[in-house]
Amino acid sequence: MVDKQMPKCARCTVRICENRGAKMGDNPPTQEKLPGFCPMKLMPGVFSEAAAEYEKPAVQEFARLASVQEFQCYERLSDGIRPKLPRIEELIQFARKCGYRRLGIAHCAGLIKEAGVLTDILENNGFDVISVQCKAGCVPKESIGIKPEEKIAGPDNWESMCNPIAQAMIINNAQVDLAVMLGLCIGHDTLFIKYCAVPLTVLAVKDRLMAHNPLAALYLSDSYYRRLRNGIR
Ligand code: SF4
Repeated sequence: MVDKQMPKCARCTVRICENRGAKMGDNPPTQEKLPGFCPMKLMPGVFSEAAAEYEKPAVQEFARLASVQEFQCYERLSDGIRPKLPRIEELIQFARKCGYRRLGIAHCAGLIKEAGVLTDILENNGFDVISVQCKAGCVPKESIGIKPEEKIAGPDNWESMCNPIAQAMIINNAQVDLAVMLGLCIGHDTLFIKYCAVPLTVLAVKDRLMAHNPLAALYLSDSYYRRLRNGIR
């Protein structure tokens, strides 16, 4: 259980930080109505620290381009705004904005087909694309202490471990401008992020059951996946 006095935006009903309906030039929102778990109340110093980071020219420019990209994901119609870009198109647009030329895909062996399609798309859009899959290195799972009975392929069969650290090192060595994660397993993705030394974005995460859309289970958590809410053993 998270301490009561820790940030919990996910529980917020007021969302004063969004300041919806206000115009530029209006007074900033009153702080009194902030809930006790609000990070603006609990950790006010963080926001000035972050502001100092955004003052750094390279950081500010990156943040600016990201927000321009966010803006361009909508079209403004007479009946309101609508989203218009799939994430892959956002990736292409954002990489171009940043002046990136070489992209590095870190993908799961289970998504080799998707990695090929992604490579085609990115190359056809003018990028130099390198890719490395999780099994690169051909290191047996026993080397990290996996027992024979814990191998998916069966105890007597060779099974290469996922090697996200090597994936990250290869991406780093290839001097890509941007790494793109595609379907790495949970935990392996954590290691990849830890060792990746270049800018990194995620195109998709692994969800074997939900066609790599983990939110599908969340959307069904009032019905078919209610057991998730009830606490799984
Ligand atoms: S920052 Fe504060 S006001 Fe905004 S969502 Fe979080 S708790 Fe709510």
